[in-house]
Amino acid sequence: MKQNIKNLLYTELEEYFVQKYRQKFRAKQVFKWLSLGVTSFAQMTDISKKMAEELSEDFFISDLKILRKETSKDKTVKFLYELSDGNTIESVLMQYKHGMSICISTQVGCNMGCTFCASTVGGKVRDLEAGEILDQVIFTAKAEGVRISNIVLMGIGEPLDNYDNVIRFLKNVNDEHGVNIGYRHISLSTCGLVDGIDRLAQENMPLTLSISLHAPNDGIRNKTMPVSKKYPYHELLGAVKRYLAKTGRRVSFEYTLIKDVNDRPEHARELCQHLKGMLCHVNLIPVNPARGTMAPSELKRIRQFQEMLLSGGLNATVRRTLGTDINAACGQLRRAEFQKSKEGETV
Ligand code: SAH
Repeated sequence: MKQNIKNLLYTELEEYFVQKYRQKFRAKQVFKWLSLGVTSFAQMTDISKKMAEELSEDFFISDLKILRKETSKDKTVKFLYELSDGNTIESVLMQYKHGMSICISTQVGCNMGCTFCASTVGGKVRDLEAGEILDQVIFTAKAEGVRISNIVLMGIGEPLDNYDNVIRFLKNVNDEHGVNIGYRHISLSTCGLVDGIDRLAQENMPLTLSISLHAPNDGIRNKTMPVSKKYPYHELLGAVKRYLAKTGRRVSFEYTLIKDVNDRPEHARELCQHLKGMLCHVNLIPVNPARGTMAPSELKRIRQFQEMLLSGGLNATVRRTLGTDINAACGQLRRAEFQKSKEGETV
């Protein structure tokens, strides 16, 4: 079975060219072409036809097919991509003052089971390979003709449940010979897999760790995030503290406000007690009613919650919600397509 050349680390590609051709510099040429989104070796004009043919005997170059693309009023662009095996994933391109940011998927579906999240309905189909994660950055930049400067691993899937492929992707997207995005411009979001957080702390990658906390205690968290039964609150916060001690990098907490579930003053107070003194930032997000069952908190309640965190000494902002008119919350578009095909509609 041929493998996707984009799954190889730069150093592995070098090794391949040294062993086969005694030409280490070829790795630099090929890696660059891949980062520009070529889909055949023949398009690599600075390698010989013979070498291109030999490469295509050893490897294939993955592609992403745009199944659907939606542009929101705020210029957020959402892509529904088809992978080579027909599975679908989503990526979202967002425009901020500091540049273009892309939200990418790490798995087809998800096994974490958060009750508010559309990605987890139907469970995990499979992990994405490193090259497939990278492809979202490469082909989105190519399709839109833009330079992407920030990446958030907040699309479909749990990145720390696909640890090795995600690390491989991070190394390649950061590599100066390719896409070359600094770790400081990358955020990885997790629902709280403690063993993964501890491993990540050892990787020496100065990225931003983002924790999907969404509750002030185990009682509430157990109801909305089943992962909390495996890794309770105090264990999760323990891992975050170890991560902070090892990396010195400020951690982000995502807190999705769900009306009457986790948005009361006593919840804000409890959250303050847990996070006080930690080098962190709390992102408050009105829940997107993706699964229909939960209502977002009213703006007044959100502001009140934020005020309480601020006066409790925490750093807290309310996240701007982008792309709500185009189903831009995780997994929504994939799910909408899935529903349609079940109902026999054509896209
Ligand atoms: N599995 C990872 C990353 C993917 S989800 C994680 O859990 O962090 C990315 C973020 O979107 C998480 O913070 C997740 O909790 C949040 N999210 C999922 N569904 C949402 C919804 N309906 N409204 C608001 N945020 C949501």
